[in-house]
Amino acid sequence: MLNKKNFYINGKWVKPFKSNDFEVINPSNEEPFAVISLGSKEDTDSAVKAAKNAFVNWKETSKEERISLLEKLLKIYKKRFNEMAEAMSKEMGSPIDYAISTHAASGQAHLEDFILRLKEFNFEEIFNLKSNNYIAREPIGVCGLITPWNWPINQIALKVIPAFATSCTMILKPSEIAPISAMLFAEMIDEAGFPAGVFNLVNGDGAGVGTHISGHPDIDMISFTGSTRAGKLITKNAADTIKRVCLELGGKGGNIVFADSYPNAVRDGIRNVMSNSGQSCDAPTRMLVEKSIYGRAIKEAADEANKIKVDVASKKGDHIGPVVSKVQYDKIINLINSGIDEGATLAAGGPDLPNGLNKGYFIKPTIFTNVTNNMEIAKKEIFGPVLSIIPFETEEEAIKITNETEYGLGNYLQTEDKEKAKRVAKKLRSGIVYINGNAADSGTPFGGYRQSGNGREGGIWGLEEYLEIKTVTGWK
Ligand code: NAD
Repeated sequence: MLNKKNFYINGKWVKPFKSNDFEVINPSNEEPFAVISLGSKEDTDSAVKAAKNAFVNWKETSKEERISLLEKLLKIYKKRFNEMAEAMSKEMGSPIDYAISTHAASGQAHLEDFILRLKEFNFEEIFNLKSNNYIAREPIGVCGLITPWNWPINQIALKVIPAFATSCTMILKPSEIAPISAMLFAEMIDEAGFPAGVFNLVNGDGAGVGTHISGHPDIDMISFTGSTRAGKLITKNAADTIKRVCLELGGKGGNIVFADSYPNAVRDGIRNVMSNSGQSCDAPTRMLVEKSIYGRAIKEAADEANKIKVDVASKKGDHIGPVVSKVQYDKIINLINSGIDEGATLAAGGPDLPNGLNKGYFIKPTIFTNVTNNMEIAKKEIFGPVLSIIPFETEEEAIKITNETEYGLGNYLQTEDKEKAKRVAKKLRSGIVYINGNAADSGTPFGGYRQSGNGREGGIWGLEEYLEIKTVTGWK
């Protein structure tokens, strides 16, 4: 059993103020493999104090000094890349090959991209040639960074690296369900030689450390990724201190498959929703299919779902792993049962364990057809390998159904008609629209409309979240 009970505060691994052990479970076998501590108000205060003190000097560092430290961190990350993949495979159940090619790779890609952006970024400028006014972008100060378990290092990198880049100091509270990758990242930061107190890590749960962070008077900004439920609580608790609150929340993406879509569009949509065992905020969990191809589409969808293997995360190869925890497993199974009760047709999968697996939080890739947009399975973020297929007749109807959700993170559309694709993309109310399976480039902004949040992470938008803007007159 790994002993990971200490926190990283002011450049040192320190014991918690009082012990409060919490076991980290491997979802592939339901067995604990590490023990962390859940922190207290005292631990939070000590980390915030270190970050506040460190800000005094860190905010004066040059861009070049910060680039050099980030480049060191990148080297160390590459050296310990496989350890990072293994940590996530164990803590959240990502199949090891997927953890290498996608999860661990995302941390490296964000480091590389933010180093590039930082090199090009202007922190100061004269307002215009005729003006004597000067505009400065200054670090906001001490940041509270709270992250989820589903894309652990991706979410951490999207916050910690721009905070470093903009001269902010920080306290990170990773998800207590999957904290090992975060602690490994803290070791890398330590090895890279960032000054003491610039980065601090305190483990804890939402009700404890999470709440102490969101209400803390010496924290200037919260960057939170997680559920809409927690995003609302954080916003309310942060209100008294008027801190900036950047939120990256849940989603219920639509994937509009028009009759003139490319031949593999349905099968690709199934693979996309099932990857990471359906635990992605921008997963296309509602597939809208044009009526004229509905019969063919549901056959292809069920066939593709039945082809997807489910197995333990440590096994190499192309398969999906378990969902992260017993809590998530129960929630997903309840929602699958609610789909059956509400009268949707179960075309693949269902609530029983996949063949040959009787330990671990495994769920069969599940497809519901004949779903209407007012069923629970079409409204709620299920966060498991479950897809709802909804028929539509016209372009307007498809847009209306896609937008009829409280979320607005990622939507998808498939058509070979380029003009129609652009027309529909403009009408979808979400922070990102993926046309014909094209991926977003590194450095593009990621974030949501409506209850999917208010922040934008990645690229220059990701840097700007951590900056205050100052106007100074009479500069020249
Ligand atoms: P969660 O909200 O339960 O927990 C996320 C983090 O917030 C954890 O560290 C948790 O301890 C903490 N937390 C919980 N309650 C809190 C509170 N009241 N105050 C402060 N902190 C609190 O979410 P999760 O189950 O870990 O993650 C899954 C969710 O994250 C999904 O809804 C998913 O869509 C969302 N997500 C969004 C994005 C995005 O970029 N929009 C990316 C990944 C995940």
